Amino acid sequence: MSAKIIDGKQVSVEVRERVAEQVEQFIAGGGHQPVLATVLVGDDPASHIYVANKHKACEAAGIGSVHHELPAETSQEDLVTLVKALGDDDDVDGILVQLPPPDHIDPDAVIEAINPAKDVDGLTATNAGLLAGGRPGLVPCTPAGVIELLDHAGIGLEGAEAVIVGRSNLVGRPMISLLLGRNATVTCAHSRTRDLAEVTRRADILVVAVGVPELVKRDGIKPGATVIDVGMNRTEGGLKGDVDFEAAAEVAGAITPVPGGVGPMTIAMLMANTLTAAKARTR
Ligand code: NAP
Repeated sequence: MSAKIIDGKQVSVEVRERVAEQVEQFIAGGGHQPVLATVLVGDDPASHIYVANKHKACEAAGIGSVHHELPAETSQEDLVTLVKALGDDDDVDGILVQLPPPDHIDPDAVIEAINPAKDVDGLTATNAGLLAGGRPGLVPCTPAGVIELLDHAGIGLEGAEAVIVGRSNLVGRPMISLLLGRNATVTCAHSRTRDLAEVTRRADILVVAVGVPELVKRDGIKPGATVIDVGMNRTEGGLKGDVDFEAAAEVAGAITPVPGGVGPMTIAMLMANTLTAAKARTR
């Protein structure tokens, strides 16, 4: 292996400590304690673990949290009513609805019920539009975490050839805007891309967010490239990324592992976004 490993666990600890200090300073300066409200519908065990981890992270950062757990049969109308009420609740700074909801609920209807000022996942049309327009707003946590990792690793973005694989609203699309905003030359590949390896081989910075285990192989990586693997795929062989790590690490200059790469950054950036939302509300 020749690639430098980008340690997301370590960077996430640093971000979380930085946020904890900033929360302390904010409160010391007369601000209120930021509060994150989480909403979980149904009994998906993985979602329960994610939400529990978010609450632990809040506690460690000095951020308050409240949790609303609703049965799987909750109607879309009741969920939207709750999310709107949280949007009007002066004691709540951030709202996170754990996705995906059960099948009978349209996730877009729930997302659009979130008060954009409290949209710490950055998924509402308002925040997505602000980001696409290069204006300040709340940015989705995972792509924001990718930028933090690249900066921490000292990777120059200006003028770099960046290729993103995947165009979801959660990762790929906001990643395009963030990298463009940092003056990278951005290409976005997806399921209809003709020759994926030919496209990804152009990348100085390759961000893969697809959900197919080990889709990107050694032949898809330019020697010396920085490879950020967002994928989290549960397989019989354990948790795997979207990149064939062992093979990629032989050619890449730097690479994130799975687990321990992008994953831990998402919660860290959620803490950062909750503080940002709290500060903005006091203006
Ligand atoms: P998603 O909404 O399913 O989007 C997947 C994207 O990949 C789509 O744009 C799709 O293209 C593209 N794609 C699918 N098959 C492809 C192929 N064979 N070649 C090229 N592109 C292909 O997924 P997501 O929410 O962005 O998540 C992607 C991965 O990241 C998943 O493994 C997820 O678990 C992980 N993830 C991790 C974190 C974290 O905290 N680390 C956070 C979010 C997501 P089309 O648009 O053409 O269909």
